[in-house]
Amino acid sequence: MRLILVGPPGAGKGTQAKRLVSQLNIPHVSSGDMFRAAIKNGTELGKQVQEIMKQGHLVPDEVTIKMVIARIKEDDCESGFMLDGFPRTRPQAEALDAALAADDLSLDAIVLIEAADEVIIERITGRRTAPKTGAIYHIKFNPPPEGVEVTQRADDTEEAVVQRMKKYHAETAPIIPFYEAKGLLKSVNGLQTPDQVTEDILSVLGVRKS
Ligand code: ADP
Ligand code: ADP
Repeated sequence: MRLILVGPPGAGKGTQAKRLVSQLNIPHVSSGDMFRAAIKNGTELGKQVQEIMKQGHLVPDEVTIKMVIARIKEDDCESGFMLDGFPRTRPQAEALDAALAADDLSLDAIVLIEAADEVIIERITGRRTAPKTGAIYHIKFNPPPEGVEVTQRADDTEEAVVQRMKKYHAETAPIIPFYEAKGLLKSVNGLQTPDQVTEDILSVLGVRKS
């Protein structure tokens, strides 16, 4: 299955992707995670994107497209993938389409996790991640177990979130009609519990929970 998860920052894309990939047996391809790994490893790409990300701006399309398209051409993505955080702009959506079409492939669905702006700031500023496992926690909604070391993302400040929300509305929301026109769009309400959201996603995809 070739899937895209889309939604505003804090909608729960990472949380849901981690739950769904084991269920669907496809790799989780997160452009944000790939950029953060590049920063952590001190690569040229990492140096290039660090400041852009910290301020909540978007990494240029050509850099992002090159990285993600190369990733989905790897062997483990042959039978499918779950894209999280990509595409985020119209040129990215078109580049993805073209790359898949060149290999006679197409997307199965794009799942939009809807969340109102009002809840986003609280979700993002309370987000914590465990560097060792990549698990995503929230200080209030899903507190890390005692003894688990967690860190806060450099771009999870209120200032950067406001910027990311602006980018979402200006650049990412406009890709939704592009997929709707292709009949691929499925929407779920991201304001429910994580379990309910997972259930809804599996249901709109027509997958039975095992
Ligand atoms: P969120 O959890 O807010 O949805 P991500 O982890 O997906 O955030 O992305 C974090 C940051 O990485 C973005 O604010 C942006 O700077 C950069 N980034 C990730 N994916 C993309 C993309 N597809 N295009 C441009 N920039 C991206
Ligand atoms: P995204 O990848 O879309 O930016 P995350 O999955 O990282 O979002 O979730 C953002 C924050 O909100 C995290 O702290 C996560 O624990 C929390 N969260 C995710 N889904 C829910 C939910 N359904 N209800 C409450 N909090 C949630």
